[in-house]
Amino acid sequence: MSTIKIAVFPGSFDPVTKGHEAIVKRALPLFDKIIIAIGHNSQKDKYFSLEQRKRFLEKTFSHLPNVEIAIFEGLTVDFCKRVSAQFILRGLRSVSDFEFEKNIAQNNRMLKPEIETVFLLTDLEYNAITSTIVRDIHKHGGDIKKLVPDAIASEI
Ligand code: ADP
Repeated sequence: MSTIKIAVFPGSFDPVTKGHEAIVKRALPLFDKIIIAIGHNSQKDKYFSLEQRKRFLEKTFSHLPNVEIAIFEGLTVDFCKRVSAQFILRGLRSVSDFEFEKNIAQNNRMLKPEIETVFLLTDLEYNAITSTIVRDIHKHGGDIKKLVPDAIASEI
């Protein structure tokens, strides 16, 4: 019996960007299922509500049957165990991303060595896209259509 490969792609997704969308699409051939998981921390203020962030993700990936959207609280590795995921998917844009991601991945590995973190390097064209920049432009009434997935560009 072969086990199906499940990856959790955790993040804030405040909001989902073209960078996130590209990472998920490129990771699809590697896994049988990808669960995009919005980490919910009640102490942290977000720009878009949890419901909005979830809806944006659902609209972006509704045509992909192997992609699910979930919300979780607590440790990412505990959520992985709950959904039987063996992999954590993360994207890398820069050296500072690497330093940050390395610490998280090494600590996750200490907590649950059986879960591997897999990194994909961002596409050159999405290298400068961050949710923070998207929020700033949106807040000041700028046009973010080129930065977010086409499926949500008109709604957002
Ligand atoms: P977090 O708050 O956990 O960093 P984000 O929603 O900002 O959540 O990011 C989730 C993941 O997506 C992280 O691994 C981040 O490095 C990656 N990511 C964000 N933007 C891009 C991008 N433009 N290209 C590739 N990966 C990205």
